[in-house]
Amino acid sequence: MSDTIFSKIIRREIPADIVYENDEVLAFRDLNPQAPVHVLFIPKRALATLNDATEADATLLGKLLLAAAEYAKQQGLAEQGYRTVLNCNEDGGQTVFHLHLHLLAGRRLHWPPG
Ligand code: AMP
Repeated sequence: MSDTIFSKIIRREIPADIVYENDEVLAFRDLNPQAPVHVLFIPKRALATLNDATEADATLLGKLLLAAAEYAKQQGLAEQGYRTVLNCNEDGGQTVFHLHLHLLAGRRLHWPPG
């Protein structure tokens, strides 16, 4: 897949407000937050979209979710609640083609989304 702005963040070529990292996952604050807490969790091994994931990526996808939950617990967000979102392609609203999980928290989130 082609290089994206998120690959540059992983390589520390451009700045980001990094809030969480482990061997396989990096998380940083969204530049255009949609909630008081808006963090993006990305795999260091890039996949463009969820459509590109295979059985071999199942553990990695699970680790993205677990990293988001761990961060929410660390930040004291878990009990009040939060939302995770993974946008795929045009109708899903995906704009950066390095798969990422949004974690949104800190306000009551509406459902269904628009
Ligand atoms: P999506 O629309 O699901 O592809 O989400 C992409 C997200 O990346 C958007 O919420 C953007 O605000 C965010 N974003 C784009 N560039 C950056 C950046 N350099 N640092 C942090 N967040 C970014």
